[in-house]
Amino acid sequence: MPELPEVEIVKRALEPVLLERPLRKLQFNRADLRFALPGDLPDKLAGRTITSISRRGKYILAFADNDHGFVLHLGMSGVIRIEHPEEQSDQKHDHVVWAFDEGPRIVFNDARRFGFLQAVHVEDWQDSAPFNAMGPEPLGNSFNGEYLAEALSGKKASIKSALLDQRVVAGVGNIYDCEALYMSGIDPRRSAGSLSAQECEKLAHAIKTVLALAIEKGGSSLKDYKHTDGNLGYFQHHFAVYDREGDPCPKSGCPCGTDNGVQRIVQHGRSTFFCPYVQN
Ligand SMILES: [Zn+2]
Repeated sequence: MPELPEVEIVKRALEPVLLERPLRKLQFNRADLRFALPGDLPDKLAGRTITSISRRGKYILAFADNDHGFVLHLGMSGVIRIEHPEEQSDQKHDHVVWAFDEGPRIVFNDARRFGFLQAVHVEDWQDSAPFNAMGPEPLGNSFNGEYLAEALSGKKASIKSALLDQRVVAGVGNIYDCEALYMSGIDPRRSAGSLSAQECEKLAHAIKTVLALAIEKGGSSLKDYKHTDGNLGYFQHHFAVYDREGDPCPKSGCPCGTDNGVQRIVQHGRSTFFCPYVQN
């Protein structure tokens, strides 16, 4: 599932295509994705210009000059294609199309349909779920060690699970959760409330670092998207521990290299990858 960095990259790729161009038509090719598509939204947005696009957690928000807009979630398998007129092709699972009078169009394709698009209004989107209970943006100033210590205080759940709670911090999913815990040397099985102030500081810093690095990498892969027909929404990473069961972790000389390497355990139904030597 795309996490914050992937969604941020999609948002950045959409900016030059979606903003400040009169939208000829928002087209729905079916009535529902994970939820019903907002049937009256195409009328509200036809002929309007999208003037803002932003990201909150794993969601992309865009608003037109009449304050109506949409929130898009990529779900498990959702991808965005930006297609110039000469490269337009209708593909299976193309569910939503943003068409303009000239230049590229935007297509949302989602084979498994866990993604969704809903109508939002500039005045009240923050008052509705999930935004009304969402934690701070991890790359923002309000997310730091002090905040994290407060948010985790008294929590008996594992730190691994606590970070997946979007009320604690927005946009962190399984991958960057594992990577940040490795970077900060914290055992994913510890109870969230047991972390010291210093560990919370380290962990907050690690979360910011792994996310920022991933955005930087994704951004560099984005530069040449026009030369491929690659779908936006996913990009290749090299992870330290995520999905690397049995491999030695990146720490030079770490004893895990001559032992069993990176370990995988299951916590609350999700795989956790960690190095038992670095994270203890
Ligand atoms: Zn190791």
